[in-house]
Amino acid sequence: MKKLIVQKFGGTSVADTEKIKNAAKLAVMEKKNGNDVVVVVSAMGHTTDYLVKMAKELSQSPSGREMDMLLSTGEGVSIALLAMAIQTQGFDAVSYNAMQIGIITENVHSKARIIDIKTDKIKKSLNEGKIVVVAGFQGVTDDGEITTLGRGGSDTSAVSLAAALNAERCDIYTDVEGVYTTDPRVVPNASRLKEISYDEMLELAHAGANVLHPRSVETAKQYNVPMRVRSSFKHENKGTLILGVEKMEIYKPVTGVAEDSSQARIVVCDVPDKPGVAAKIFSKLASENISVDMIIQSYARKISNTNDIAFTVDLGDVAKTSEALESLRNELGYSGDIQVNNDIAKVSIIGAGMIDRPGVASTMFEALANEGVNIKMISTSEIKISCLVEKSDAKKAVKALHDVFELGCDEKADVRGDLPNL
Ligand code: ADP
Ligand code: ASP
Ligand code: MG
Repeated sequence: MKKLIVQKFGGTSVADTEKIKNAAKLAVMEKKNGNDVVVVVSAMGHTTDYLVKMAKELSQSPSGREMDMLLSTGEGVSIALLAMAIQTQGFDAVSYNAMQIGIITENVHSKARIIDIKTDKIKKSLNEGKIVVVAGFQGVTDDGEITTLGRGGSDTSAVSLAAALNAERCDIYTDVEGVYTTDPRVVPNASRLKEISYDEMLELAHAGANVLHPRSVETAKQYNVPMRVRSSFKHENKGTLILGVEKMEIYKPVTGVAEDSSQARIVVCDVPDKPGVAAKIFSKLASENISVDMIIQSYARKISNTNDIAFTVDLGDVAKTSEALESLRNELGYSGDIQVNNDIAKVSIIGAGMIDRPGVASTMFEALANEGVNIKMISTSEIKISCLVEKSDAKKAVKALHDVFELGCDEKADVRGDLPNL
């Protein structure tokens, strides 16, 4: 039986027509291997950033609907060009946008989740021998409204298509050679990981390693889609395989370090210390589609019987969050400030190997202290410890943590490459 491979090319991999030709060559190569090929593609280069910039020049808070109408156009350009490039190389290809296929999402703008994908059109074109090129990042609601999946969302389009089509594998082609122990553009001696578990990758992506959109990893894990992150430009390299933990052995407490500078810290001061207050605040934020990350509630002050609730949200959600909190002020009776700090960053260490290994947190805090980095908030999960720090300290913190957990290598190499049976 023929295998189906889903390939995804990110913005830098299709930044100009030469790079589009290169992506076409990789799609054709897979087709020549005897496989069916579906290619998911992002907008060219920094197109999406440019579109966002234009919108911001015209409006401080553009409507979600019009933003999605605007941003979805970027992928429309690259699918048509890539299909043309494939045709020029002598292979039949057809491009489809999300509306034509039926990539159905929730009725939410700018970060919609995919709820269904119609596969008839794609299957028909594959049966006709065509390479199918699909626009990433876009979706459509049941009512025919255009949505987008959130920045970086083409990874999620690709994995969701791979799951819906029961693909053999989803190859994410990008501008680095795989997933590294930290961003190789920040720490040059970062090591490439030969493989990483879905769970660790999910935490890394959530912690800010933007090499993969977190929801793509979530979907890959849910539907057991093998994923490979590899380079568009050094495609002979195998990249990084993302798979279930049962196939892996754990050698180090920490697998990777990540930084997220796209969040702001909000502190609601002097909140009455009584049942139901946190529930009201966070359900209001949820109803506005605002995702909250780290949350800390301080000890209640005995005299005033109040406490402070601090949490982080995406920078893009700050205005909406402040409005939502103000709208609850009278009902909940909080009297203090609502403080917003945009100059923060979250640095995280991730590793399945930290489970049941005491001392990982203290090593992290010591390494940050040695660099004079002040920790503002801490949160933990079974396989992750995150610290909120000043944005200006973030790079220094990442480097220190990468060093202290011995994740670097002299030359770029597989971090576990010297170990047996891997
Ligand atoms: P694409 O346009 O292909 O989707 P992205 O810019 O979204 O590419 O993601 C690739 C970038 O992710 C790399 O250029 C790199 O700087 C960054 N990155 C951050 N953390 C990591 C990591 N742990 N491993 C690899 N790349 C990372
Ligand atoms: N073009 C979109 C973005 O820049 C989606 C993607 O590249 O994954 O965020
Ligand atoms: Mg990306």
